[in-house]
Amino acid sequence: MNEADSERIGRSFAARGFELTDSLKAADAVVINTCTVRQRAEDKAISQIGRLRKWKLARPDGKLFVVGCAAEKLGRKYIRNRFPFVDEVVGAKSLDKIEALLPDFPTLPDFPPENRHSVQKHTTGQPSPLPTFRPPTPRLPDSPVSAFITIMRGCSLKCSYCIVPAVRGEASYLAPEEILAEAEAKIAEGAKELILLGQTVNSYRYEGKDGAAVSFPALLKMAAALPGLARLRFMSPHPLFFTDEFFRVFRENPRIGRYIHLPVQSGSDRILKAMRRGYTRARYLDIVAKIREAAPDAAVSTDFIVGYPGETEADFRESLSLIGEAGFSFAYCFKYSRRTDERGLEPDLDEAGMDERLERLLAEVKKNSGAILNARIGRIEEVLPESRDFGRTSANFVVRPERGAELEPGALVRMEITGVVRNALKGRPVP
Ligand code: SF4
Repeated sequence: MNEADSERIGRSFAARGFELTDSLKAADAVVINTCTVRQRAEDKAISQIGRLRKWKLARPDGKLFVVGCAAEKLGRKYIRNRFPFVDEVVGAKSLDKIEALLPDFPTLPDFPPENRHSVQKHTTGQPSPLPTFRPPTPRLPDSPVSAFITIMRGCSLKCSYCIVPAVRGEASYLAPEEILAEAEAKIAEGAKELILLGQTVNSYRYEGKDGAAVSFPALLKMAAALPGLARLRFMSPHPLFFTDEFFRVFRENPRIGRYIHLPVQSGSDRILKAMRRGYTRARYLDIVAKIREAAPDAAVSTDFIVGYPGETEADFRESLSLIGEAGFSFAYCFKYSRRTDERGLEPDLDEAGMDERLERLLAEVKKNSGAILNARIGRIEEVLPESRDFGRTSANFVVRPERGAELEPGALVRMEITGVVRNALKGRPVP
């Protein structure tokens, strides 16, 4: 979500004529988009802000924005007290405020593009030196072929270990017209794959003024039909919001990527209940079965948390056994952190105990992923190249061309899978 937010913020600035740069020295404005899920991420943001003191001294006319989740959690007062040189603090709940802050800058029409470079060199005197916004705006995947579209913000669930609802607020949904217009714009810019984003993306439901509602499956269907689009993906759905309508739309629209990242967090019902996830292991497995019923080739990946307070060895083994039972193609595995837990519960395990479980879980994931990748050898897959060196199958497996072959970014190609190299497939284009 943060990466999508960075891209959106970058677009707002760019729409006013700002340009991106990798050079801090050349930057007239800097935006630090912060994350607070892990202590390390928050520490990194804090130290980055500290390092910008020098830049601000050298560029007193430059603008420094601190935005996002850590900004929301720490608060404007704390950040401005600790770093008085920060110009604006915008928390994750009010990211749209950045738009309102921009008009303070001179507007583009006064400074046509051909004049921009010289104008930037003015620091005093003239009424309006045009600041140039040049943050490193990361993009995921790092490819012009693929683009994010945020369809909702915040989350209305209350998982016990999660800080997102506190820093991003209740779920709110963007209007379908707005989403589809953004999708069309990104396709016109060259995107072949769109990734719809939201914390519980499949909870999407938008009621228009006339009372007519657009559900998540209805939105998927409309987006999948956009001309020029090769693939549609979405991230991350929540087990609570799957419906029969979703499975029907998923089955009938092969443009919707055959890959679903479906966070489970634990394989133990006891721990799922303590986490307030709202489903059981059996319910989760039922959803996985329905995904595969709708699309037998579909890959499912997940997130796990190890060492949640109260997690016994038996609970942990339930997570281990779920990997094979659900057939996860991949899993992101995290250690429980009390800093994002609203009750701040102490874990029962010490750091070494957490590490030990994490390693066992990762080893099981790796074993399972390896078997799933190997099972793809010999198949013909439709691959969407993101660069000359790699592309992805509909099930989101990375495919690299055999030595000597090159791919054409954005052009769907059929490839025969000939092997597995590290965590990727190897293949050759076929007619
Ligand atoms: S972990 Fe739970 S509370 Fe946090 S964003 Fe996901 S669904 Fe919402």
